[in-house]
Amino acid sequence: MTATLDVRGVEKTYGKGKRAVHALRGVDMRVEGGEVFGLLGPNGAGKSTLVKVLMTVIRPTKASGTLLGKPLGDRATLARVGYLPEHHRMPEYLTGRQVIEHFGALSGVDRVTRKRRATELLELTGMTQWEKVRLAGYSKGMRQRIGIAQALVNEPRLVVLDEPTDGVDPTGRRDIRQMIAAIRQRGCTVLVNSHLLSELELMCDRIAILVQGKVERQGTIAELTEKDARHEIVVACADEAARSRAMGSVAGLGFVEGVAPPGAAAGSGELTLVRAGVDEAVLQQGIDALRASGCTIRSVMPRRPSLEELFMQAVRDPGTGKALEVGAKR
Ligand code: ADP
Repeated sequence: MTATLDVRGVEKTYGKGKRAVHALRGVDMRVEGGEVFGLLGPNGAGKSTLVKVLMTVIRPTKASGTLLGKPLGDRATLARVGYLPEHHRMPEYLTGRQVIEHFGALSGVDRVTRKRRATELLELTGMTQWEKVRLAGYSKGMRQRIGIAQALVNEPRLVVLDEPTDGVDPTGRRDIRQMIAAIRQRGCTVLVNSHLLSELELMCDRIAILVQGKVERQGTIAELTEKDARHEIVVACADEAARSRAMGSVAGLGFVEGVAPPGAAAGSGELTLVRAGVDEAVLQQGIDALRASGCTIRSVMPRRPSLEELFMQAVRDPGTGKALEVGAKR
């Protein structure tokens, strides 16, 4: 597969001397064609700076790599890129349709084509019935939908969405996720940046976690969580003796007592047993041993850390274990 974006050693320093801020300290990132790629990081990690470098809004201090097969910074390539900036402001006196057509005109899309695409994009974003209403009368969610539509009017091969679900209610967020899936279906690569990790978990093929100007982790969520994958068995134990029998039967297989899953009733007589790794054979032996010990198995679950846990691990200072301060030196 060809990469939509492949950059190496991107550096950006704002200011000079004592006031210098090293916003990007050598970013290596690769986004494959046709995937939904999530860019994550705490505030101040350099996400906006990286996007601005890609969009040629600012010049990098140092960078090499390609965007859609062309060297980074090639302005002509941007005609094939769509962009939804964070906190975008669009003219309030324009209707939804006019916004889409206006951005189409700015991207050099001819009149007939942009009218046709506006109709398609109003449909894709569920805004057809609002097309003649001015933005001044739109909710935040409706503005985001029109923002996504305008980012697609030039039929981009890459669309960059900065906080697309910002200020949108849960139903609207689900709709936006579906829109992103539809955009990918059209063969367009999506680079998305969001604070809502559970959202990204649901929509991204791969992610990169940016911490203090460097990519700390990069890969599919499955790859990144593999190391901490585990099996969890919940058993019902009538009394203390049953608990120790259950524990004793699987201790030799590497199971240890774990934390009860959220929502489990306290004092329900349940015991949660956890084994690191995802060894299916050992899991079967564990199930056999537990059944032989006479206890009832309530559930068997493969578990992986959530994206939130992964994120917290990545932003933790390796020395102190605390979350890194914005702007702190490593
Ligand atoms: P993020 O988008 O991840 O929150 P930014 O790219 O906005 O991070 O910022 C990265 C770092 O660069 C921060 O320390 C920020 O204060 C600094 N920074 C961003 N823009 C400028 C600027 N125009 N001038 C000076 N410093 C800046």
